[in-house]
Amino acid sequence: MNTISIPSAGRTHHARRLVVVAVLLAVAAIVALAVQQSLSAASAIGFAGHQAPPGGPTGEIDGSVLAPSEADGVIRDGDQPTVFDTDRVAVGNLDPSLLEALQRAATDAQADGVVLLVNSGWRSPALQERMLQDAVVQYGSEEEASRWVASAATSAHVSGDAVDLGPLPTLDWLAQRGARYGLCQIYGNESWHYELRPDAVNDGCPEMYADPTEDPRMQR
Ligand SMILES: [Zn+2]
Repeated sequence: MNTISIPSAGRTHHARRLVVVAVLLAVAAIVALAVQQSLSAASAIGFAGHQAPPGGPTGEIDGSVLAPSEADGVIRDGDQPTVFDTDRVAVGNLDPSLLEALQRAATDAQADGVVLLVNSGWRSPALQERMLQDAVVQYGSEEEASRWVASAATSAHVSGDAVDLGPLPTLDWLAQRGARYGLCQIYGNESWHYELRPDAVNDGCPEMYADPTEDPRMQR
């Protein structure tokens, strides 16, 4: 009996070992599958995180501004509105007195075959901030960038009091006749940047600042 029972016990022991090994293999397979799934989930999140929606909503992540859109006052090259396109926020959000002067000037300019196009008008604070960030990268320092781009707090574009006009024949026309409408170039280095100076109708435009850094409004 002894000789029979020993192999029997041995077979039982062997069967138990097989079960243990099978369970361990199954557990290992489940763990491997779980790890693989969490890795692919992580990489899917990483991929989506790198996709910035073109023309998507404006917001700030870690201090950097996402691509501003039409609603921020963005005007794309070749898609410039006239001063009558008030359905575009870059035009429609301008100060009403400035807009009225621009429209009177544009009506008279049209008789001379000159069209007033808006390259930039009202801007959201987010768009202004983005432009300043880009300028710092372009010019290498905040000091040099400030000669060209104001901050969101100081920009006359953000308050709706400034407009960048074009094309070149329009700038020539405005340089000669803008004052009649109270439209004045403010900075010597920005022949395109106009603001309303109502007194200019009688007194002519005030002396220009060489660049925005000379403008006391930019010191705030
Ligand atoms: Zn400007």
